[in-house]
Order: sequence, then C-alpha cells, then structure tokens
Amino acid sequence: MTAELMKGSPLSKRIRGEVKERIAQLQEEYGRVPGLAIVRAGEDPASVWYANSLKKAATKVGINAQILALPESIPQEEFERELEALNRDPDIHGIILQEPYPDHIDADRIVSLLNPDKDVDGVHPLNAGYHFLGAPRFIPATPLGGLLLLEEYGVPIKGAEAVVVGRSNIVGKPMALLLLSRHATVTVCHSRTRDLGEVTRRADILCVAVGKPGIITGDMIKPGATVVDFGTNPVGDELKGDVDFESAVEVAGKITPVPGGTGPVTTAVLLRNVLNAFEKTLGLPLTGA
Ligand code: NDP
Repeated sequence: MTAELMKGSPLSKRIRGEVKERIAQLQEEYGRVPGLAIVRAGEDPASVWYANSLKKAATKVGINAQILALPESIPQEEFERELEALNRDPDIHGIILQEPYPDHIDADRIVSLLNPDKDVDGVHPLNAGYHFLGAPRFIPATPLGGLLLLEEYGVPIKGAEAVVVGRSNIVGKPMALLLLSRHATVTVCHSRTRDLGEVTRRADILCVAVGKPGIITGDMIKPGATVVDFGTNPVGDELKGDVDFESAVEVAGKITPVPGGTGPVTTAVLLRNVLNAFEKTLGLPLTGA
C-alpha cells in the first residue's frame, strides 16, 4: 500500500485567503486591521526564523504584525513590563510568546500574565481550561490545524481509536482533547509508555508530537491507519518528521508529509485566531474551532 498524502498547503491557502478577505472587509467597515505582536527573547535561530516567517505570513493577509525581540539577558520584571504594555495596547489584538525563554525567566509566570483575550495560541491557563471544559475560546494552532487536516481529508473521527504520542501542553494534550471532543476513543502515550508500538498499532488515527526523528516506524502502524506527524526535526539540511516516512508510507492509509503537512496549516490557523481576537474587540462573535 502507498498512503495518500495529506498535504497542508491547499487547506492553508484556503484559510489564509478567507482571513485576508475578511480583514479587507472589516477594514472597509471599521477602518481598522488586526495587530499581532510576536515576542521572543534571545537569538535561538529556530525562534528567529519562525518569528520572521510568521510576521511575513501575517502581513500578507493584512495583519499589522510586529516582532518584539528582547535581549537574552532581560530581567524578569522588564519582560513582564513589556508584556503588560502589549496587553494594554488597543492596536494589538494577538500576542504570541515564543519559546524558548531564557533560562532565568519564569515562563509559567509570563504566560499567566498574558491577556487571555489576546492569547491567540491558547497557552494561557484560562484558555487551556476552557478547552478542557469543552467550551474553547482559543485553541493552540498546531493541534487545531491537525484536526482541520483530518476533516479536510475526510477521515472519520467519531468512534475511531485515536492514539496521540506526546503530551505537551501545546500539541499532545490539546490534540487529545480535540479528538475526544469529536468522539474518538483516545489514548495518550509519552516517554514512560511501556510498549509504544503495541499501543500505536491499535490506532485508526495516530498523531505524533515527540520531537525525535523517525521514532514511529512502519511496523508500529496499523495497515490503513491515518498518520498525522507534527514533528519538525532539523536533520542535516533536511526537516524530518517524528514518523519514519519511508516505512510508514507503505503501511498507512493516509499520512502528512514533513515538511508540507501540519506546518503550513499551523500558520494559517494562527492567523485566523488573530482575526477572531480582533473580531471580538469589534463585538463580533468568535468563529472558533
Ligand atoms: P515537547 O518536548 O514539549 O514534548 C514531547 C513529548 O514527547 C513529551 O510528552 C514526551 O513525554 C514525549 N516523548 C519523548 N520521548 C518519547 C518516547 N521515546 N516515546 C514516547 N513519547 C516520548 O515537544 P512539543 O510537543 O513542543 O513538540 C513535539 C514536536 O512537534 C517537535 O518536533 C516540534 O518541533 C513539533 N512542533 C510542530 C509544530 C508544527 O506546527 N507542526 C508546532 C509545535 C511543535 P514526557 O511528557 O513523558 O516527557
């Protein structure tokens, strides 16, 4: 068997097109556009690259995006002051706090100080809580993009056996919640899972967010299963997923490629979340997930 590729670009393009159109419409109606602040501290190359590419993507759809690049040595209090200024700024509707934080920074405290109404990546405890309770406001863009990809490619979720490998707050856990909200039977695996292959082989839908290239091989996949690979691991000059694509593509029914699978959808969903935050300030209802 050779799996169908679940490419992210067509869906990503469509979402970005819709966001762009809506922003143009709102600009005409209200004379305002959404504002996004991307906050990073230090010079981690992946973080610098991601901030720049996100700013570019946001600008293309009409979002007024800015990067706040803080020095690695910034004291905690100053970081908090910078964030509070963005929290109050009426022209900023979305704030993205980019990892990694400098070692001396209390990241949990920074996240808790973020204005929940501007938390477009759904990391604030209040938004995580709303999601947990089944009444989401902002959902982290990566797992929400994964769900949209499953829907886009017509993968049946209701009643399916779903396995999520990885339990981070930004990908694994929210992905498990999203699948649960769509009535899948969900199992979450992590570094202490005893026999990973034994569990993953049960999955009709297998979602992987670990950060270890090739940790899931073809023999760990049920024939015909759908595989969503969130992994983005630089290996030499290439970007590799957490799934060993060569062996997996022979077994799976559908699979996301890396690059070109979940990545492009993440960016598009994030931009849509910024639009939603902006619409909320105009008194319009959130379109949500
Ligand atoms: P984290 O490091 O926060 O979490 C990794 C998870 O994998 C942890 O829950 C960990 O378990 C689990 N894990 C580690 N080793 C194993 C193992 N041997 N077997 C099973 N589980 C294991 O990573 P993230 O969730 O932030 O990111 C995961 C991947 O997704 C990365 O490659 C990242 O680059 C990518 N990513 C992709 C995005 C996209 O847009 N496509 C966006 C965000 C991230 P434990 O909890 O026990 O430690």
